[in-house]
Amino acid sequence: MQDTYRHKGLRKQLIETLRQKNISDERVLHAMEKIPRHFFLDSSFLEFAYQDKPFPIGSGQTISQPYTVAFQTELLRVSKGLKVLEIGTGSAYQACVLAEMGAKVFSIERQRKLYLKTKTFVEQSMPYKLNLYLADGNEGLPGYAPFDRILITAAAPEIPEALIDQLKVGGIMVIPLGFGDTQSMLRLIKTADGKLEREAHGAFRFVPLLDKIGND
Ligand code: SAH
Repeated sequence: MQDTYRHKGLRKQLIETLRQKNISDERVLHAMEKIPRHFFLDSSFLEFAYQDKPFPIGSGQTISQPYTVAFQTELLRVSKGLKVLEIGTGSAYQACVLAEMGAKVFSIERQRKLYLKTKTFVEQSMPYKLNLYLADGNEGLPGYAPFDRILITAAAPEIPEALIDQLKVGGIMVIPLGFGDTQSMLRLIKTADGKLEREAHGAFRFVPLLDKIGND
C-alpha cells in the first residue's frame, strides 16, 4: 500500500477538523498526522479513511471514529515510555497511535479472526512492535501488570475489577461506561488508597465489550 501526497493532504485536513473539535494535545495530533489510516481499511474503502467517521473492519467490528481515538488518547495523557494496556485491538489503529507516541503497548482482542488478521497486518505493514493478545480483555494481562494507563475501546457495562487491580497508583483508566445506546466517557485516576477518582467527559457510542474469546 502507498501513502501518497493526496493521502497526506487528506490527513492534514482531518487533523484540522480534530483541532476545530477542540483536540489540543499536539502529541496526539502529530501521531495521527503521521499514521496512514487508509492502511487500516479494506482497499475498496480508501476514500473513507480520512472522513471523521467510524468504519466497518470485518467480523462485525469497527475502527473507531478519528475524533473518538483522538479524544480518548488525549484523556489518557500518554507520554513516552508509559506502559499502556488497550482492551479491544480491532484494527490496531488506536494501538499504533499510542505506539507512535512512544508508549509500550499491550492490546487484547477477543475475536480470533480479527486478531489474526490484525497481527499479520501490523507485522507486515507497521513500524511498531505491539504486544497483541487473543484473550478476554476483562481479565487484563496479570503477567504484565501493573500498567500506567488502561484504555477500553468497547462499551463496558461495569468497570472490570481485574483492570482496576492492574492499574498503577496514580495511573489513568479511560473507559466508555454503560450498556444503553450511549456510554459515558470516564477518566478514572487510581489514588493511593486504591480508590478511583472519576471524571465524566461526555457521551459516546461504542460496540459492546463482550466476554470470552470468540470465533464469531
Ligand atoms: N481500538 C479499535 C476499535 C475497537 S472496536 C481500533 O482502533 O480499531 C472494539 C473492539 O473490542 C472490537 O474489535 C471487539 O471485538 C473488541 N472486544 C469486545 N469485547 C472484548 C473483550 N472482552 N476483550 C477484548 N476485546 C474485546
